[in-house]
Amino acid sequence: MDSAFQQCINPDCRATFDVSEVLTACKHCHGLLDISYDWDRIPVPSTLSEFEARWSERLQPLNLSGVWRFRELLQFAPEKQIVTIGEGQTLLQRNDRLAQLCDMKPGTLYLQYEGMNPSGSFKDNGMTAAATHAHMTGASMTACASTGNTSASLAVYAAVSGLFRCIVFIGSGRIAFGKLSQALDYGARTIQVRGDFDDALKRVRELCQKHPIYLCNSVNPFRLEGQKTIMLRVLEGLGWQVPDWILVPGGNLGNSSAFGKAFAELKQLGLIDRIPRLAVINAAGAETLNQFWNTDSLRWESGRPDPATISSRFEQMDRTDHRASTVASAIEINRPVNLIKALRALDTCNGVVRSVSDQQIIDCRAQIASAGFGCEPASGASLAGLLQLRSEGVIGRDDRVACILTGHELKDPDLTMAYHSGDPELHQKKLVPAGIHNTPLANPPVVVNNDEQEILTALGLA
Ligand SMILES: *Cc1c(COP(=O)(O)O)cnc(C)c1O
Ligand SMILES: [Zn+2]
Repeated sequence: MDSAFQQCINPDCRATFDVSEVLTACKHCHGLLDISYDWDRIPVPSTLSEFEARWSERLQPLNLSGVWRFRELLQFAPEKQIVTIGEGQTLLQRNDRLAQLCDMKPGTLYLQYEGMNPSGSFKDNGMTAAATHAHMTGASMTACASTGNTSASLAVYAAVSGLFRCIVFIGSGRIAFGKLSQALDYGARTIQVRGDFDDALKRVRELCQKHPIYLCNSVNPFRLEGQKTIMLRVLEGLGWQVPDWILVPGGNLGNSSAFGKAFAELKQLGLIDRIPRLAVINAAGAETLNQFWNTDSLRWESGRPDPATISSRFEQMDRTDHRASTVASAIEINRPVNLIKALRALDTCNGVVRSVSDQQIIDCRAQIASAGFGCEPASGASLAGLLQLRSEGVIGRDDRVACILTGHELKDPDLTMAYHSGDPELHQKKLVPAGIHNTPLANPPVVVNNDEQEILTALGLA
């Protein structure tokens, strides 16, 4: 595949490497890597609707996949080496009820429901690409550190394909049982490190440098190529029109980075004529990007963001042993590995960053669920961010917005139950975060004796 290559994003380096190499950083300057393409040599369709036509040829596994249906936009692997399990069968869903909640016009608010992936989160979009590259490079062992969903995703690709073993590192902090149980069920060797996610990631990166183990965290540039297609499906859901805003929760910032790259490439290829704005939403307890963007005014600066600003904040975090803490475990991350790429995406998309409280996250999660879409807490951040940007007037009543629902509700049922039942035992087990006492959408089960009269009374029919 000599029409694709790996390339350092540092403008003072721009070193290139063959796609057959297994790298997670530039060999010269340790910068992040992109997958770049020689577009003149790739038969990219001249209109986006040609991709849509592949729906009708879904017996072909590459057309069934919501990622590889767009394969010309991520053409780094020979077709016969692509590892797919039918990921990306997700749809954009209009939701007027939530539009009303946000004081927006009907037909303006859409949900991209990525919980409907094989492992229940958007991570499968990226993992199919990483698994493909692992296969291309002959890897027999793969690994990741995870707050849960990355491990569930990698484990399912390892199990279904049978191509490689899988090792998962988790921290000893919050991990939703729905996610951990998947990794165990799919046969991943699971190592629980005493430390948090950032510690586990540092450890697994070292291990993969020293041993022939293929790293599948989002520093892996191939993963982000797969995640670009989430934006293609958003456009497809709007009849190939470009929305005004994309809202996405930010953790390690792989998704935000991938979205920006997708739009930059589509614009460059002349497949879209404008780029939507991007809103990256942090949890208040894990708001490193928000701090950099809004407090330090750190910007992309054509690839030269101020290194002193970055190091001084990270050093301060180290000095005070600052740890991320939020109910939204999927975004409980202090040191987002894709920070620099996310700055680029925010530049490409004229983006904004906000942070929202745990209370807002769990209430919005419940609001989304009450509209019929079950998602996990992190996904609630998209709607919480939308409400905030609406109240600031940054997002208008007529703007067309897509909120990315990153993971499925059943990943974290403990929190949902705690929210609805108000069970003091669940509060004691700290399933409901400290400081959260309001559960305005709580819908607890009503306990009655097995007696018709009591049941009718409970139903208000007596
Ligand atoms: C991984 C994950 C995120 C965070 O995505 P990043 O690309 O790391 O910013 C958000 N929500 C869910 C459900 C996730 O699994
Ligand atoms: Zn470099």
